[in-house]
Amino acid sequence: MTDFAGKTYDIAIIGGGPVGLFAAFYAGMRGASTIIADSLEELGGELMAIYPEKYIYDIAGFPSVLAKDYVGPAVEQALSMGAEVTLRTEVTGLERDEQNELIRLETTKGEIVARTVIICAGIGAFEPKRLDVDGIERFEGGKGVHYFAKHVEDFRGKRVFIVGGGDSAVDWAVTLGPIAESVTLIHRSKFRAHEHTVQQLLHGPADVFYPGYVATGIQGEERLEGVTFVNTDTGEEQTVEVDEMICAIGFKADLGPLKTWGLETERNQIVVDKITMETNIPGVFGAGDIVTYPAKFRLIATGVAEAVTAVNHAVTRYNPDARLDPGHSTNIMEKKAREAEKEAQLAAADDD
Ligand SMILES: Cc1cc2nc3c(=O)[nH]c(=O)nc-3n(C[C@H](O)[C@H](O)[C@H](O)COP(=O)(O)OP(=O)(O)OC[C@H]3O[C@@H](n4cnc5c(N)ncnc54)[C@H](O)[C@@H]3O)c2cc1C
Repeated sequence: MTDFAGKTYDIAIIGGGPVGLFAAFYAGMRGASTIIADSLEELGGELMAIYPEKYIYDIAGFPSVLAKDYVGPAVEQALSMGAEVTLRTEVTGLERDEQNELIRLETTKGEIVARTVIICAGIGAFEPKRLDVDGIERFEGGKGVHYFAKHVEDFRGKRVFIVGGGDSAVDWAVTLGPIAESVTLIHRSKFRAHEHTVQQLLHGPADVFYPGYVATGIQGEERLEGVTFVNTDTGEEQTVEVDEMICAIGFKADLGPLKTWGLETERNQIVVDKITMETNIPGVFGAGDIVTYPAKFRLIATGVAEAVTAVNHAVTRYNPDARLDPGHSTNIMEKKAREAEKEAQLAAADDD
């Protein structure tokens, strides 16, 4: 575990999702000393916590990649540039130390001191929205009802019932279609998922009921055995026998402690300057799903681009002599290699 006591980092990164990881890599490439703090027990953010075994199709250079297979190299890339990591570490407070031009982060494992901070906290502390059906909580925790479904193999050969119309629900229905015994998906309104995936769903093996379908009852003794749902327009009710139920009706976005740090926020997101990614607190930047600005997209592709912008402006904030645009990575890495070689030669000369 990283011991950050007594150290001062150039850039402290809150959140080790895809955006925080890339920020750490880029910061390291620019020569910044960096630490990532994340409240979860592993790196990867939503990709590991919510959908490790789902394919992502819109990351440059990958025709399709499983979320967990993207996270592996992303972690390797971040660590290759010397980023330190502290997990199970929630950042609970942020204070600007004007006098010393430092930012002090209060965490559940002590204080992190940094010259600048990049907040890559996704949707903050995330909690799935619970389905409002009497008695459903009896079947949580391994008895058939899932809010955090992760492993595709858990559903092989099973009768699966899915509730929701966003990316998560539709992706699960498409993924499980070929391997589950049956998949039934209900949704109460229009699909919010990616158009292409919705088409895959509608042309695949799943039984799909939408719009206007909601779950109203749940059956089972020790384990989930069936779900009742209703068409809200006609009142027609039906019950299906199921083994597993995935409730993917979204997450409650809660900025949690971030709300108390004096940051300008809008609908649970932090407002940043579109040009610099800086928040209203000098030296505190943001990138990824947590930030908002006009025409913001909540995607990995755009989040990692924001991370580059945030890092470049953070570097020039603590080092006004640094170039804002460092040029291409090929040149930066070649320069780093030359410098390392020179240092090695000097060290060898000292030894002689
Ligand atoms: C089912 C699903 C499918 C998706 N599919 C795609 C897709 O195909 N393509 C795409 O581009 N995007 C997709 N997304 C969106 C994508 O996952 C997000 O855009 C991306 O994860 C944002 O990355 P991030 O690093 O900003 O935040 P996150 O991945 O949310 O990571 C934020 C991290 O910050 C940590 N954190 C938060 N608050 C604190 C705190 N106070 N202290 C310490 N740590 C903290 C969290 O624990 C978390 O690990 C999908 C999302 C879902 C749910």
